[in-house]
Amino acid sequence: MEHKRKCISCGEIKSRDELIRIMSEYNSENVVVQPNSTTFGRSVYLCYNKSCIESACKKNRISKCLKASIPSELKGQLLNELRNKENK
Ligand SMILES: [Zn+2]
Repeated sequence: MEHKRKCISCGEIKSRDELIRIMSEYNSENVVVQPNSTTFGRSVYLCYNKSCIESACKKNRISKCLKASIPSELKGQLLNELRNKENK
């Protein structure tokens, strides 16, 4: 079965590779964008979509869903992911 995940911003359900994964690591409580598969923690997902990224940052949704504090550079990292995806 294909893994489906839900965007925390618009609520759309998409397959895993259509979403950006943001994880709060269990050990360090670092918040990482697109963690590798050996990292464990609580994850949320966002569409590769500027409006989803901006609205999630604005409403503090990532922080609430991860129950973690979000570094100020996270938004920039997310927008970078978006740019990388578009350039592929
Ligand atoms: Zn979305």
